[in-house]
Amino acid sequence: MSKTYKNFIAGRWTAPATGKYLENRNPADISDLIGRFPDSGPRDIEAAVVSAAKGFQIWSATPAPARGDVLRRVGDLLVDRKDDIARAMTREMGKVLAETGGDVQEGIDTAYYAASETRRLFGNTVPSELRSKWAMSYRRPIGICGLITPFNFPMAIPTWKMFPALACGNSVILKPSEDVPHTATLLVEILLDAGLPPEVIQLVHGRGQTAGRALVEHPTVPVVSFTGSTATGSTIGETCGRMHKRLSLEMGGKNAIVVMDDADLDLALDGVLWGAFGTTGQRCTATSRLLLQRRIHDKFVARLEEAANGMRLGSGLAKDTDVGPLIHQAARDKVERYVQIGKEDGAELVAGGRRGTGTRLSKGWFYRPTIFAGVRGNDRLAQEEIFGPVLSVIRFNSFDDAVRINNSVRYGLSSSLYTQDVHLAFRAMQRLDNGITYVNAPTIGAEAHLPFGGVKQTGNGHREGGWEVYHFYSETKVCYVDYSGMLQRAQIDNY
Ligand code: NAD
Repeated sequence: MSKTYKNFIAGRWTAPATGKYLENRNPADISDLIGRFPDSGPRDIEAAVVSAAKGFQIWSATPAPARGDVLRRVGDLLVDRKDDIARAMTREMGKVLAETGGDVQEGIDTAYYAASETRRLFGNTVPSELRSKWAMSYRRPIGICGLITPFNFPMAIPTWKMFPALACGNSVILKPSEDVPHTATLLVEILLDAGLPPEVIQLVHGRGQTAGRALVEHPTVPVVSFTGSTATGSTIGETCGRMHKRLSLEMGGKNAIVVMDDADLDLALDGVLWGAFGTTGQRCTATSRLLLQRRIHDKFVARLEEAANGMRLGSGLAKDTDVGPLIHQAARDKVERYVQIGKEDGAELVAGGRRGTGTRLSKGWFYRPTIFAGVRGNDRLAQEEIFGPVLSVIRFNSFDDAVRINNSVRYGLSSSLYTQDVHLAFRAMQRLDNGITYVNAPTIGAEAHLPFGGVKQTGNGHREGGWEVYHFYSETKVCYVDYSGMLQRAQIDNY
């Protein structure tokens, strides 16, 4: 008998008002049912908002360093439970244990960073234009934050949003991806065990079209932070624009590694394999385009083919697995559609292009690491986000060509350049039009204390992580104190 899970609303674990549930299955073995999770609707969101409003009263009045004490305990509990959470996450999401352990570690780092930020929510005090007057600003919490997260980083992304929102004194409603509800449940258990007042956190499971949409459209939720696909982000953006909500969007990517003729090719090969096929290509920062300079192109493609063909598919729980499954059937169908498109567009299939076979792969959504060569910059393979283990190789002549090709997509998350020429490295940092550029490292791998996000249709100008996100979750208030004892008029020409 599989377990039936609940939402966390108004301080208790609660069955959904809809009475409906969604099954959560292991993508490496779909006969393994993890549990049934609420398929919530607008009434569940309404109850969550009522409770979160109370939570906001309590938490915004709690001194920021005391909020930090709770977040530090959250970090400690994540450390204690890291291995168990990593295993649970691999079971429901599929990626290998080293990656799910890394996902939890990201949450730990974010917790400790957020705890320290609660003693550093700086405002400014500046000279006034007038005598005997003080002019200053401070940052105050905003209200209820609606957090909507994707499946691929089941712990890290909720914590990137939740911990800074809490550090700033807001209450939160988390609507995690319907594909990874178990990890979100484990996170909320930790917040409660760490002593967070229960009304401050609500967890509402369910689908985007119902629970997610009701959260975004709720008039008493002034802040929405979303990570997911660009298509979903556009829909959410329309609603939030109309309702004048504060909105952070982190969306799709089409990231490229550029390998110059002078690069250390051993290093580049390791980077490309990890960037393209780590997390089965299901990272917003995944390397989905590989730009190879003409002279090294053929040699590098041959090495890549051999290495990709040697990668082992399997359950992320098995020690010898390099590449886990895709998240669900629709994701694998999408990959298969793009492989077909690549063939029809005349690209050369170099590796993969087929499902994983064999008994240990028969019950999961496995797909072989796939490489297409001879892709042109305007081909659909080179332009559209596939979100799977498919790498498109594009040949180029000069550094200027590589910059032009890199910048010719609608996304702008991350990019990478492999070279031994320091001049080119600095030029790349300036000219590659992305939120993040790596030199001699693949397009993936964020650090918790640096801002993370992309330009163009990857984002809307905000960043997650680092110091910048604290501005998103707080409002600047300016205060003037006039102790001159007389009317002094600003904005009047006194000169
Ligand atoms: P998705 O857009 O399908 O879903 C993301 C979340 O939005 C889920 O919780 C879903 O239930 C919810 N949702 C869907 N429709 C909604 C609606 N109408 N209203 C409100 N909520 C709705 O994305 P996914 O498949 O879970 O994740 C993959 C995508 O996420 C990729 O495009 C990837 O690039 C992107 N991503 C971006 C970043 C980043 O930081 N830029 C990080 C991770 C993933």
